[in-house]
Amino acid sequence: MRVVHTFAEARDTTGVDLALVPTMGYLHEGHLSLIEKAKAETSVVCVSIFVNPTQFDAAADLSSYPRDLERDLALCEAAGVDTVLVPSAEEVYPEPLDPIDPGPAAEGMEGAHRPGHFEGVATVVHRFLTALDPHHAYFGRKDAQQVAVIRTMAAEHGLDVEIVPGSTVREQDGLALSSRNVRLGLDRARAVGISESLFAAADAAEAGERSAAGLQALVELELQVRGLQPEYVTLADAVWMKPVGEVHREAVLATAVPVGDVRLIDNIVLAPAGPGVVVDRGVRLDRPSILYR
Ligand code: AMP
Repeated sequence: MRVVHTFAEARDTTGVDLALVPTMGYLHEGHLSLIEKAKAETSVVCVSIFVNPTQFDAAADLSSYPRDLERDLALCEAAGVDTVLVPSAEEVYPEPLDPIDPGPAAEGMEGAHRPGHFEGVATVVHRFLTALDPHHAYFGRKDAQQVAVIRTMAAEHGLDVEIVPGSTVREQDGLALSSRNVRLGLDRARAVGISESLFAAADAAEAGERSAAGLQALVELELQVRGLQPEYVTLADAVWMKPVGEVHREAVLATAVPVGDVRLIDNIVLAPAGPGVVVDRGVRLDRPSILYR
């Protein structure tokens, strides 16, 4: 495995089917599932580790973001990664980059609650995609709106890259894996209420409830009885991330919930199937996550 610090070194694989898995480090099984998928589908896998300051809207979130490069490199090595790119801020932002407009998919939900977040994401991902020129780039559906923003940004800019989404990976009890979970402390017990509330809506959708009003109200109620107050609960179409009145094509039911000092997001994906709805709840680990090792 090569560990490199510049785009030029990471690009040193011309002619191969290069896959990029961008991360902010403190890796867990969500990242590893993207790496595994990339390894199965392409020939050379590059994982980038860069905690991008411009996508943090809260200084405290940036300064407390967990970091452990040695641990990440060992996990990448064990996962069979070919190249790990660990760029400096100067490498990523040699001069102030013109911000990339994250487009209409960025307007609601996370975009409305985290000013500047998706502009930061679109700008840094555009930089990585143009500097590395990968054939495929892998992103997790845990951040469903991010997938939509990056897809539309790549199309808008004519980037010749396939954006490949991966399933949400969850802890054994259902909590979506996030590097931020290690900061939950005693609030970890309450955090599982987020996935439980979404899964209650999944059960209702599978039993015939298709309306946004019904599904959103159910999630809000389930969160409330667990002592959780969401910033939003929204049913949105999966491509443009615009609120929809019911599940008539693929949609995400997404929420953001502060739990103590940590803000968590999660979603389930719903799609019409004949008279009913099928729900993708992601995949659960069958053992404790490496996050806590
Ligand atoms: P991050 O390091 O949090 O920026 O995440 C890097 C990539 O991993 C992004 O594409 C995320 O969507 C993805 N990811 C993070 N958590 C999960 C998860 N629980 N399941 C699947 N993918 C994830």
